[in-house]
Amino acid sequence: MKEVYQKTKEELFNEYGNSKGLNDEKASEYLEKYGENILISKKKKSVARVFLEQFADLLVIILIIAAVVSMMTGNSESTVVIIVVIVMNAILGTVQYVKAEKSLDSLKELSAPKTKVLRNGIKQELESKYVVPGDILILETGDMIVADGRIIENYSLQVNESSLTGESTNVDKFDKNIQSEVSLADRCNMVYSGSLVTYGRANVLVTATGMNTEMGKIADLMNMTQDKKTPLQISLDNFSKKLALIIMGISVVVFGLSLWQGNKILDSLMFAVALAVAAIPEALSSIVTIVQAMGTRKMAKDNAIIKELKAVESLGCVSVICSDKTGTLTQNKMTVQQIYIDGQCIIPEELDVNNQLHRYLLYDAILNNDSSIQGGNNIGDPTETCLLEMVKKTDLHKMGISDEDIRILMPRLEEIPFDSERKLMSSKYEIHKVPTILTKGAVDVLIDRIENISTSNGVRKITKEDKEKIIKQNQIFSENGLRVLAFVYKECEECHCLSTKSEHGYTFIGLVSMIDPPREESMEAVKKAKEAGIKPIMITGDHKVTATAIAKSIGIYKEGDVALTGKEVDEMTDDELENVLDKVSVYARVSPENKIRIVDAWQHKGNVVAMTGDGVNDAPALKKADIGIAMGITGTEVSKDAADMILADDNFATIIKAVLNGRNVYRNILNAILFLLSGNLAAILVVLYCSLMALDVPFKPVHLLFINLLTDSLPALAIGMEPSDNLLLKKKPRNPKKGIFTRNISIKLIVYGILIGTVTLSAFYIGDKINPLTASTMAFATLTLARLFHGFNCRSESSIFKIGIKSNLWSVAAFVIGTLMLGFVIFVKFMHSMFMIAPLTGIQIIEIIALAFVPTVIIQVVKVVVEKIN
Ligand code: ATP
Repeated sequence: MKEVYQKTKEELFNEYGNSKGLNDEKASEYLEKYGENILISKKKKSVARVFLEQFADLLVIILIIAAVVSMMTGNSESTVVIIVVIVMNAILGTVQYVKAEKSLDSLKELSAPKTKVLRNGIKQELESKYVVPGDILILETGDMIVADGRIIENYSLQVNESSLTGESTNVDKFDKNIQSEVSLADRCNMVYSGSLVTYGRANVLVTATGMNTEMGKIADLMNMTQDKKTPLQISLDNFSKKLALIIMGISVVVFGLSLWQGNKILDSLMFAVALAVAAIPEALSSIVTIVQAMGTRKMAKDNAIIKELKAVESLGCVSVICSDKTGTLTQNKMTVQQIYIDGQCIIPEELDVNNQLHRYLLYDAILNNDSSIQGGNNIGDPTETCLLEMVKKTDLHKMGISDEDIRILMPRLEEIPFDSERKLMSSKYEIHKVPTILTKGAVDVLIDRIENISTSNGVRKITKEDKEKIIKQNQIFSENGLRVLAFVYKECEECHCLSTKSEHGYTFIGLVSMIDPPREESMEAVKKAKEAGIKPIMITGDHKVTATAIAKSIGIYKEGDVALTGKEVDEMTDDELENVLDKVSVYARVSPENKIRIVDAWQHKGNVVAMTGDGVNDAPALKKADIGIAMGITGTEVSKDAADMILADDNFATIIKAVLNGRNVYRNILNAILFLLSGNLAAILVVLYCSLMALDVPFKPVHLLFINLLTDSLPALAIGMEPSDNLLLKKKPRNPKKGIFTRNISIKLIVYGILIGTVTLSAFYIGDKINPLTASTMAFATLTLARLFHGFNCRSESSIFKIGIKSNLWSVAAFVIGTLMLGFVIFVKFMHSMFMIAPLTGIQIIEIIALAFVPTVIIQVVKVVVEKIN
């Protein structure tokens, strides 16, 4: 049987469809038949499985066994409570997991690749999962190929198939038939899912989707859906393991002391295990995930789509942002300002169709242009649509002649599309019966290729003075922040094929200058970045003088800074580049290779670099940067695939918002850790103290479980939801190499632990005057309430008076729910025997509230004093 690549187009159309694409009906029928175009990843865990996994913790298992044994020995009430508490904790854990998964899935959805297909004969954009066999894919430079297919129309298509074949050079494709049997890499009339279009365009008939593609066949081998943990999660997991060992050691000591004091083995064991469960912050890893996932949701709302959780952490450490100019810092709304033609500057309205020289400029603007204006909508590159807007202002339009009329009159014979490395676009037409190449592009690239100049007196050899005048005019335009394009043409032999080798020997027509105003929010965003200790850098394909003028106007370029061109960077050694790095705020006329070197140099100096990019060639630089940022609107699919974050609005200011969010997420996680660990430390200190002093056990196992598994999780999550404050953007970027437990955090943790431990112990002593049960009830209630109050201390470095109670209503809700739970246990008689609670008097309750409040008062007073001093 013939393979797909050996079949003729006709055979394939008989099998799958036609060259106009499927109709909607057929498309949905095929979608039903072949399924969605996705690589099926590992099966998702069911909710029941997630729930059961919550019990797969050695300590929890020991605890359940101990509880069951204790029930058999007659202590059934507290056993039931322990089991209920553990089950409730498992439910809480399951809800957290499912919520985090859901927000990660919705993120994936947001960054899902799109593709262009022909359906009902009309070109449309589609989410790639809906592509089916029989669809016609329309491939253009920068696209990701999302299905396997046979090329049916080819326009110099070049493809990178390295993800499939390992071969990194580009492969030329064709649409001819292949009869013999050839290997995958030689099937040049086919394209395969997972490859990238690096040049040209083509129409492709889809022959396989999803798991039936060549990529699908090897998908299993690639182990694509490994659960990736972020660096923070990994370091927390490691920390938790070490902590668990230490705590188990302590628990063994407590177990020994308890036995020595004459307690029953089972009671001692139960207590030691409960202490371990209470002291080990099991919830840490899941709190980190949920806080990060919530953070990414907030970022997506702010137009920054994070593709991987770990990017959130790196975002918080960003110290250098390398940003494109056009569209990111500027509006990408170009308007032609002035035209330099025949030695003078005129405005678009002054272009005269009857003047042959002006007419050539108009031809170049209309014909040598891939964009269009349809029904008032600009379609295509703003640099090109603004040229069409310019034409609209001339009397050509008043005469009722449209761009389309001119394009039909003079069809394009050949073309070399614009690319930002050549900085030129050329195409060939028959004008006045003479084959003519029209070219437009960067002035500095074209100036040395010009031999003649066209004036109102006809064409003549260009002189040195003419060139000097052109260069001077270009300089004047550029100094005003204008983008300048040179327009040239060349008459040629008919048989002469257009190639990059023919782009010389031109006749100069004129210069067109266009304004692209900075985005209004750019200036403020640049200011914020600088305050946050982040260096913003402009990296652009535009002219150095234009770029510098724009950079100056938005504050990126300051007096004393340096602007370099890509050529100048090429001429420098790595050391030379590193020496000037701090001073350079503008890189102009850069190549993709320059971008990689710039990222590398900054990283070498220990910085965390964010870099934007939109073109197909930007992918390596985006991968090299710590945070690769692609443009959601103007970016190619290839750049989006390589990036860690996608800007839905292409806006620089969104990057700054995302950095702030990244810093906030990290801070909140740190605060949640501080909250959990300081509270746990307090419990351990009290237990250890009582064991060493041979006092009664201060807490029953069920108390510790109640606190650790129920009342503690909610404030920790609420701390994770803390909104960002301006203080965060006033700080220098965090050093990613610094661990979580800085000196500052460690000191706070110990002091907070001692404070809460002391008041708990005081409550214990007060109760102990009555009887041991009252002592443990008071210790339990004070510890729980003190930790609930403590939730407010850990929200921020600032005092509660500065941030306000209402700024995080989650924390208020967590406090209220926690207090209600505690109240339920303390005040409802029915609960007393289950939780081993003694009835309390009014005075004792006031004592508990007062004592529990003391650490918070001290901590808040210290914060206020520090704020006053600062
Ligand atoms: P960035 O987004 O990196 O700031 P840019 O848009 O300024 O990039 P490119 O799009 O790479 O830079 O353009 C580089 C140069 O190529 C421009 O300065 C201009 O001279 C020329 N150019 C841009 N667009 C076209 C086009 N459509 N046709 C011909 N020349 C163009």
